[in-house]
Amino acid sequence: MSPRRISKTIKIGSVTVGGGAPVAVQSMTKTDTRDVKATVRQIKQLEEVGCEIIRVAVPDAAAARALVDIKKRIKIPLVADVHFDYRLALAALEAGADGLRLNPGNIGEADKVKKVALAAKERGVPIRIGVNAGSLPKTANKKLNTAERMVAAALEHVKLLESLDFDLIKVSLKAFDVPTTIAAYRAIAEKVPYPLHIGITEAGTPRTGIIRSAVGIGTLLWLGIGDTIRVSLTAPPREEVAAAYEILKSLDLRQRGPVLVSCPTCGRAEADVVKLAQAVEKRLLKIDKPIKVAVMGCVVNGPGEAKDADVGIACGKGKGVIFKRGEKVAVVEEKDFLEALMREVEGV
Ligand code: SF4
Repeated sequence: MSPRRISKTIKIGSVTVGGGAPVAVQSMTKTDTRDVKATVRQIKQLEEVGCEIIRVAVPDAAAARALVDIKKRIKIPLVADVHFDYRLALAALEAGADGLRLNPGNIGEADKVKKVALAAKERGVPIRIGVNAGSLPKTANKKLNTAERMVAAALEHVKLLESLDFDLIKVSLKAFDVPTTIAAYRAIAEKVPYPLHIGITEAGTPRTGIIRSAVGIGTLLWLGIGDTIRVSLTAPPREEVAAAYEILKSLDLRQRGPVLVSCPTCGRAEADVVKLAQAVEKRLLKIDKPIKVAVMGCVVNGPGEAKDADVGIACGKGKGVIFKRGEKVAVVEEKDFLEALMREVEGV
């Protein structure tokens, strides 16, 4: 894995982004921001699963006003996502947003971006220049490919903010297409010193979206690029956060909660491994400890992997052997597999 690109550091509320800080996990609410109760409920659920920065859509003045009450009731930093109307960005800053995300392609004239930058600078609030392949400025040079046009759009706005002596900048360049996204981030990583928010946009439902995100985000992280990530899924945002951590855990960049090792099962399996692994996975969601748990289907390869984990089970015919840190600690009946394994997990 390439060494991580060291960018400038910014602070979104209490969370440091860039400069070698741990890659921060963020998500976006799917509620109507004006519905403060529902939005706060969703953010609290996200806090429970380790979301570190939350973004909310601010489509109108009422949504901007709602930020005041939302912010009072949550612990993690709040980023306001603004399209089209720079006055909403100003209102969000007024309401106490810890970060802004603007799509320069649709915010309009430089003058308006200027007004927002000055207000953000006064408050020390960072701005993410969020370029999306789907909404590039109409003036974009048609001779360039999509990734190049995305980079050009971002650079233009970076320059504008810099000209205002504003450097609390974060950049994102998202596309649905994974190679385009990777090309765009690789290029911008060399051109600006700012932290990068990475993700694959409109990635889809969990089945395909997690794969697209893992390939895109995973490749960039492997290249040392990316300071904060968001997995976009057509699913409850908790799933976005869970997927983000799985990507980070698989590259050993962050540790949060258990890792489940389970065999794919085959003709040698002597128990219903699929059912057991799914039940274990569900129970592990509530556990914070960064431990490795193994669920293996037979006595051929099972004991090796199970021994290698902090806690593991190798299922045999009607009976299973439970290992803890490499030692065999119990032989249990099939009906007790789940409870006996979880007892050991809870005792680690
Ligand atoms: S652990 Fe056993 S049951 Fe599971 S895939 Fe390997 S050989 Fe098959």
